Amino acid sequence: MKLKQQDSQIAKLIDLETDRQKTSLQMIASENHCSPAVREALGSYLTDKYAEGYPGKRYYGGNQFIDKVESLCIERAKKLFNVEHVNVQPHSGSPANAAVYVATCQPGDAIMGLALPMGGHLTHGTKVSFGGKFFNSVQYGVDEKSHLLNYEEIEKLVKEHKPKLIWVGATAYPRFFDWKRLGEIADSVGAYLAADIAHIAGLVAGGVHPSPVPFVHIVTTTTHKTLRGPRGGMIMVTKKGLQKDAELPKKIDKAVFPGLQGGPHENAIAAIAVCLKEASSAPFKTYAKQIVRNAKALAEELKKYDFNLVSGGTDNHLMVIDLRNKNITGAEAQDLLEGSGISTNKNSIPYDPAGPFKPSGLRIGTAAITTRGMKEKEIKQIASWINEVISSPKSAKKISGEIKKFCKKFPLPI
Ligand SMILES: *Cc1c(COP(=O)(O)O)cnc(C)c1O
Repeated sequence: MKLKQQDSQIAKLIDLETDRQKTSLQMIASENHCSPAVREALGSYLTDKYAEGYPGKRYYGGNQFIDKVESLCIERAKKLFNVEHVNVQPHSGSPANAAVYVATCQPGDAIMGLALPMGGHLTHGTKVSFGGKFFNSVQYGVDEKSHLLNYEEIEKLVKEHKPKLIWVGATAYPRFFDWKRLGEIADSVGAYLAADIAHIAGLVAGGVHPSPVPFVHIVTTTTHKTLRGPRGGMIMVTKKGLQKDAELPKKIDKAVFPGLQGGPHENAIAAIAVCLKEASSAPFKTYAKQIVRNAKALAEELKKYDFNLVSGGTDNHLMVIDLRNKNITGAEAQDLLEGSGISTNKNSIPYDPAGPFKPSGLRIGTAAITTRGMKEKEIKQIASWINEVISSPKSAKKISGEIKKFCKKFPLPI
């Protein structure tokens, strides 16, 4: 109400975006709909407070309650993920990863990560990002046939380059990671192994994806993807991490503040705490299970319509369609689906012959539609719409009307 009176332009745009979310299907694999409780914490007076430092050691006064908020958030994260130390201050996933470099490496050190076009993340050593600019970045890939991580190649590259830090994690990898094997490979050269579980954190928390915690030293994550919290990031140190380097928690905290950030966003930290409480509950376990069920059902349905999937299917919340047999590019498919009310994104497929600017793939995820209560029955309908639009673009307008109606039955969390 206040916003509308004070700034009608922004109020109007927020209304339009809200309406867009309500009347279409959000199937971008990194997106979700957080709870009203999370949004309430995010919009609280905590946004006004400066709290440089950590609980009990702040550079400003008046943090008696803020300290409790941040400590509670840390305790909840430690318990949920079964780790020894957590920093909840990174403003998002990329700053969390930047802090891991600062904590463990010197500029020029060798680091390794999954190449971006193979499903990796920008921050894992891509040339245009800080990991690739300031470090000697070696990129590994997936197997050309199976599309699984190429563990033999990783092992060979690790022995050859002896990286200080190895990243494992992805934005478009539909399969489980073999954390144990990766742990052994990292240990063979004494490298820090960091699992970036940004996409799968909610699945790990919900017990439907193997946890990297026993096998890696560091875990980073965003809090807004499958974990379903506010935008934010966390860095965790495992027991194995402490055994390798007892100073690791201190190094990570110093890297976040004062290394890279100033004052933490305590409103976001409160909202992360709320999300972690939600993610520790029984209904969240059911939710995580349903995300994967929906993804598997969608993969099977799409295959019936002769869609090819990278790696042949999915173990998690996402899949990547290889569109080459459909004579359509990822960008064209994204636009067509957008026009019919299904939001997805174009994505490279492994060894994409079309190059990164005109990728041949489309990434689809089920986290957000599962939050709205959609199950296998609805998935069948969605797969049929996806097939119809892609095989007959003229149908987009008709389908957009059907999807608007369909969405009314599945409101956003209110
Ligand atoms: C999303 C993502 C990030 C970065 O998160 P931002 O919040 O967008 O900075 C980092 N790593 C992986 C694997 C991701 O999927």
